[in-house]
Amino acid sequence: MISENLTNIQANIPENVKLIAVSKTKPIEDLQEAYETGQRDFGENKVQELIEKYPQLPNDIRWHFIGHLQTNKVKFLAPFVHLIHGVDSLKLLQEIDKEAKKNNRVVDCLLEFFIAEETTKFGLDLQEAEEILSSVTAGRAGHAPPLPNVRICGVMGMATFTNDTEQIRREFRNLHQIFQRLKERYFANEPHFCEISMGMSDDFLIAIEEGTTMIRVGSTIFGRRGVLQTP
Ligand SMILES: *Cc1c(COP(=O)(O)O)cnc(C)c1O
Repeated sequence: MISENLTNIQANIPENVKLIAVSKTKPIEDLQEAYETGQRDFGENKVQELIEKYPQLPNDIRWHFIGHLQTNKVKFLAPFVHLIHGVDSLKLLQEIDKEAKKNNRVVDCLLEFFIAEETTKFGLDLQEAEEILSSVTAGRAGHAPPLPNVRICGVMGMATFTNDTEQIRREFRNLHQIFQRLKERYFANEPHFCEISMGMSDDFLIAIEEGTTMIRVGSTIFGRRGVLQTP
């Protein structure tokens, strides 16, 4: 089933859109099956769960952290994480920089934006993001950039949980516009700032129409998660 689901999704997404298989709450065997189908990008939202799974699976997997990350847990991810999607404060960015340096790595991150009409979701607004970016991208002439061990590669967001597809579309369009504005202002000459992580099982087709580059899909690949599991 997992293999079939993956093949179906891959057939429906353009080549420039990366599929991240969100494997949270699912057992190792399910991830193994996805891996054997050729899937290499996996997303998890709990640090504990991710560090338990990571050593049990092949090391060419690219692990995406898609949850809300607490600063005191950054050290567990810094040695191996491929991309941290949910960065929503300067403090977190500084901590990632510090832990990345200890591991001799540059860790890629996305800034998370609050685009939904719900108060339960995390993320920055444009003004907060610009405050962060003004302080971290303004490398003064002759000085090293302030956070040399993090690389901001784009933006991430989650649409409102609703059946109103036009609302979802507006929210994704808003995130795309935020991406473009930040690109022009802070990353005009930096090709690595190129990612828009938006779209999940129920809305990834809309996200593709609105210019996503990374979709994070869980239940459509692995089946529904248990009702007691959150989110
Ligand atoms: C769980 C989760 C997903 C995947 O959700 P599905 O609806 O199962 O595709 C995507 N993004 C984030 C941040 C998640 O927590």
